[in-house]
Amino acid sequence: MPEVANVMDRLVSLAKRRGFVFQSSEIYGGLGSVWDYGPLGVELKKNIKERWWRSMVHERDDIEGLDAAILMHPKVWEASGHLAGFTDPLVDCRQCKNRFRADDPRIKGSPGQPDAQCPVCGSKGTLTAPRMFNLMFKTFMGPVEEAAAVVYLRPETAQGIYVDYMNVLQSSRQKIPFGIAQVGKAFRNEITPGNFIFRTREFEQMEMQFFVKPGTDQEWFEFWREERMKWVVGLGIRTERLRFHRHTAEELAHYAKDAYDIQYEFPFGWQEFEGIHNRTNFDLSRHQEASGKKLEYLDPATTERFIPYVVETSAGADRTALVVMVDAYHEEEVAGEKRVVLRFHPAIAPLKAAVFPLVNKDGMPELSRRIFDDLRTRHNVFYDDGGSIGRRYRRQDEAGTPFGITIDGQSTQDGTVTVRERDTLRQVRVAADGLVGYLAERLRS
Ligand code: ATP
Repeated sequence: MPEVANVMDRLVSLAKRRGFVFQSSEIYGGLGSVWDYGPLGVELKKNIKERWWRSMVHERDDIEGLDAAILMHPKVWEASGHLAGFTDPLVDCRQCKNRFRADDPRIKGSPGQPDAQCPVCGSKGTLTAPRMFNLMFKTFMGPVEEAAAVVYLRPETAQGIYVDYMNVLQSSRQKIPFGIAQVGKAFRNEITPGNFIFRTREFEQMEMQFFVKPGTDQEWFEFWREERMKWVVGLGIRTERLRFHRHTAEELAHYAKDAYDIQYEFPFGWQEFEGIHNRTNFDLSRHQEASGKKLEYLDPATTERFIPYVVETSAGADRTALVVMVDAYHEEEVAGEKRVVLRFHPAIAPLKAAVFPLVNKDGMPELSRRIFDDLRTRHNVFYDDGGSIGRRYRRQDEAGTPFGITIDGQSTQDGTVTVRERDTLRQVRVAADGLVGYLAERLRS
């Protein structure tokens, strides 16, 4: 296990040092499992979300976008089953006050019984019997903190899509089958958060709900399962570290008929970062029943009425960012020196290129600035004129910048620059005028 801890520790420390991810409220000691994205992290996550949005919404005729509110009518959560069912059984240790999931494998014996042993302080008989604990964050709407004013921070973005489904259907003039996509924050008061941004209490989801005719649901489920894996592979993730995990009958959520996780082999084991679920007509039926509003679809071709089945693709933006970072992280030796490099797919790299004047004289800074100003109108690029060129390359390797552009003495004579490729370390001379095209070709997804 020390190796595992090391890789994650080194990644967490790089993430902080280079401005990918910081602990929230760090100067106050941090807030448990809540993280902030720094200058490079925000670009990386944004690129992932935009790529998802483009492939789901812009490149398809049959999916519409939505941005529903985080706060929803509390009846939504009653109808969806989250109020009753979104719970984990927990046990407390009366001795050391630690709290665990009842199924924590470190617990010896049955919680609540005298033989059960606390995995932290080792006391026997101090663990309480399991109690159910709801994972939804509660708050109050309006000035009075009373039961009638309770609202919840949504634990998934999907419900916003279900309750708006009729509005979207009618306003967009889509016909079934069609989908609604949404990217947004979700909140879960997780009991066992951890592993950096893997399981946090505030996170972002990229969810798409695809509404289909009953009977065609398994077909669409298979379609979306394949599409989603293709998308993930397109992020440049090593395929040997990806696999599907089909939910067993015990694992299936209360609403699901079939479900696959897309898993990645993290340093701490194989874990899900996206789920594809056949949610049947569970949610829409429950909302129809609870709201009293008809959520049936009238098929214009057959005049049949039915409540659509839903195939959901549900990905975490933060977990996907973690997959991308873990997969990209490499330590290697170059010319006898250690280099840490993040081999991001160029299309999602936070910075696309860095511009370096070899020295700060002889017209090089002026030409470098002109090139930089030209490139920044199209891409997120970085200008660095501090320190040796080797040090500047290393800094960009750690940031995962795919191209380093060096302006040297020859550049001011013949208008060519050197482009260094992050992964191959190959250096080629390119006409400065052709840089835009050179980059565009290589940044194409
Ligand atoms: P897990 O059991 O790992 O917490 P889940 O099965 O509850 O996940 P879903 O409800 O299917 O997850 O959510 C879909 C996706 O949302 C997950 O694959 C993950 O990427 C993301 N996600 C869920 N919970 C969290 C969390 N606490 N922190 C970060 N991402 C999360």
